[in-house]
Amino acid sequence: LPGTLVTKGRRLDFYIGGGSFSAEDVASLAIKAEHALGYMQKRFDTHLSQRVSVGIYARGLAPGRGTRGIAYTDDRNVRIYYNVGEDQHNALCILAHELGHALQAEAYGVEVQRRADVVLLEGLATFISGEYWLSLSESASFQERARELYQAGYGHNLRTMGNSKAPNDVAYAMWAGFVDYLTRAYGWDAFNQLYVSGRGRAAGSADYEGIYGKSFNDLADEWLATFE
Ligand SMILES: [Zn+2]
Repeated sequence: LPGTLVTKGRRLDFYIGGGSFSAEDVASLAIKAEHALGYMQKRFDTHLSQRVSVGIYARGLAPGRGTRGIAYTDDRNVRIYYNVGEDQHNALCILAHELGHALQAEAYGVEVQRRADVVLLEGLATFISGEYWLSLSESASFQERARELYQAGYGHNLRTMGNSKAPNDVAYAMWAGFVDYLTRAYGWDAFNQLYVSGRGRAAGSADYEGIYGKSFNDLADEWLATFE
């Protein structure tokens, strides 16, 4: 990766570019990230088979405005974008989400991930990051967080959430709640089949009907009804 190699952990290598965190901060973030990865591997019952490189760069280098993190799972690297002095815990949680994508690639393969439904791609990465993501809103569970967002008026259309003016993290939290619901209500085997059935990034485009015998909209309504 571009930048300077700061530290090699058990499974992750950390690089930094100019204008981002100090080498000292990255060394401490690296220890926490290894811990987070250990937690997520257990949570998702999947282990990285190869090392992943982590790049930490100034916000100006992000590929899109407001982008805080991105996972290049084909090339086994993830990148986060934070300026000097920004919140380290927030960076750790975004990094955890990106490592969630790396674990997904490990579980299903990069080819399958490339055509995954965005609701499952982002919802599952958020779900895998578990306690780390929930700590950003101090929520006890993905269901509690989703209920709170739903009652605040978000998520009534799960399909269009990603394009709405709502911040990305709101869509990600709702989709994680939906993933959590599907795995609890119908089990992981069905969910894994659903993920693999992806036909492209469009929200709600995986084969929900074929796997569950119910459309995406019906499953979304069924879940949202639990908040009424
Ligand atoms: Zn993501």
